[in-house]
Amino acid sequence: MNAFLVVILASLALSWLLGVLSNILGSRHLSPEVPAEFIDVYDAETYAKSQRYARASMRFSTLADTAGTVLTFALILGGVFNWLDVWLRTMEWGQIPTGLAYIGLLSLASYAVSLPFEIYQTFVLENRFGFNTTTVKTFVTDRIKGLVLNTLLGGGLLAGILYFFDKTGQSAWLWCWGLATAFTLGLTYVAPTWILPLFNKFTPLEEGELRTALVEYARKTQFELSGIFVMDGSKRSTKGNAFFTGFGKRRRIALFDTLIDDQDTSEIVAVLAHEVGHAKRGHIRKRLAVGILKTGVVFYLMSIFMHSPGLFAAFGMENMSNYAGLVFFVLLYTPVSLVLSVLANRVSRKHEFEADAYAAETTGDPGAMISALKKLSASNLSNLTPHPLTVWLDYGHPPVLERVRALSKQVK
Ligand SMILES: [Zn+2]
Repeated sequence: MNAFLVVILASLALSWLLGVLSNILGSRHLSPEVPAEFIDVYDAETYAKSQRYARASMRFSTLADTAGTVLTFALILGGVFNWLDVWLRTMEWGQIPTGLAYIGLLSLASYAVSLPFEIYQTFVLENRFGFNTTTVKTFVTDRIKGLVLNTLLGGGLLAGILYFFDKTGQSAWLWCWGLATAFTLGLTYVAPTWILPLFNKFTPLEEGELRTALVEYARKTQFELSGIFVMDGSKRSTKGNAFFTGFGKRRRIALFDTLIDDQDTSEIVAVLAHEVGHAKRGHIRKRLAVGILKTGVVFYLMSIFMHSPGLFAAFGMENMSNYAGLVFFVLLYTPVSLVLSVLANRVSRKHEFEADAYAAETTGDPGAMISALKKLSASNLSNLTPHPLTVWLDYGHPPVLERVRALSKQVK
């Protein structure tokens, strides 16, 4: 058997197996007792509900993972990659349009498999636990907008990459790296004003106690903030959140309306302080730098592997092309991507602890951060006792219980 094929199939299977194992262990790891720290925000009934939600979510994720993996195996073993290529070549469109159609159709197949799961998750799973507020109309328009954006932006980027691999020979990976970096930075820059408003309404937070407290905190920590916005998160879910968008002078914070309804002023200040902590401790800069570096390495490796005949033989291809090489490389990259994501999650969890500590320190009120976290997990029915394997694989944030315990040490 072809060595590339063995690596690809084995790593796809391993990645699926790890996910399933994490869900099985996770279900067993649920604890029927409310952890002592959370007794004031969870009554027995809500806690039992959170356990049912965790169990249902894990079952769902196993099913969705399995469907995705089965599709990929079917495409590979069924020779679909070659069949599609041979068929598209009869159109005689030329390298780049053929490549766009090839990758576009494969993405569409993957989308078609995931769509029923998205529908089920929104309208059955999240609905059953009282989270869903998405109307069918919002769901449909979201998907249409997403498809159009992906086609325009993703298609544009892909056309550029295929062009460079076609025309610039040995240095193609450098050109692609530059293009992808410029693309990411540009997107981050325009996201708050051009892209996010396509999906949500952002209203400046009205004058009042909350606004004054947030502005005062930003001033005290000398943090430049170009705006404080309220986002209509309640349009899709009752779950609360907050995030920063843009960078430099255009940095703004968006607070979900659901968060504002749920939390009092000192808690929301703590949430802002946590986000400011990410910026002040250099997490955002570091993440950006690592991301750019990683993109360079990926394109370099891609340029080495994407033309190897063995890789094309693994997929039973009759013809070689940059576009198919690109798809195959992405599959070959699965094990590396798995390892990198585990490492990235590990660093991210460390950053979360640092941002929590920063918030506790600069607000002088660790209690507010603690109660913000507890309220958030209660209203989102977060799993308080995830299995260590799940945390290791998927958690970009530490389990909330660990965060609360770490913060408790800061309470004087
Ligand atoms: Zn954070």
